[in-house]
Amino acid sequence: MPYYPSPIEKLIESFTRLPGIGRKTAERFVFYLLKQPKQELQNFSQNIFNLQANTSLCPDCFNFSEGNGLCSICRDPKRNKNQICVVEKIHDLNMLESTREFNGLYHILGGKLDPIEGIVPEKLKIRQLEERIEKNNIEEIILAINPDIQGEGTILYLRKTLQPFNLKVTLLARGLPMGSDIEYADEATLSRALKGRTEL
Ligand SMILES: [Zn+2]
Repeated sequence: MPYYPSPIEKLIESFTRLPGIGRKTAERFVFYLLKQPKQELQNFSQNIFNLQANTSLCPDCFNFSEGNGLCSICRDPKRNKNQICVVEKIHDLNMLESTREFNGLYHILGGKLDPIEGIVPEKLKIRQLEERIEKNNIEEIILAINPDIQGEGTILYLRKTLQPFNLKVTLLARGLPMGSDIEYADEATLSRALKGRTEL
């Protein structure tokens, strides 16, 4: 392995921690950065610093939030506060947002139930969802969960858990092929899935 001065070596090591980045690619990144103007490098490091300092999770929906309070969606007075769309991860929220089809709020579960992998209900934000329903006037919960085996299990569990609240629980229409991921669906398909959602 070639030897580089410590600042270079350390940054190479940091890059190799990123998903899918091997040592060779990490070296290319660092050599590229070394050729950039000072100001550019300063901006780059400031952005990384801000990522940690100025980003948090929204205490209501667990989306990313700038600063410490609610996220921009929960803060938006124009959003319909009576609808909550439940998704597995923040990326799914962004995919659904890009359709501009949904104007309610979101709730990020943080995954799907998977007892074999130790993902039990307590590991997901299910209790927090119940609390939101208890405290607010929620009329509809839309389950936008990928319909694979774990997804089906999660949907069944949520259906049972939400039953006592006596509200409308809907499921995205099966425009999405079985086992496919919201993450990779195109906007038109997602938009159709939202429009054609069915009551559970
Ligand atoms: Zn939020």
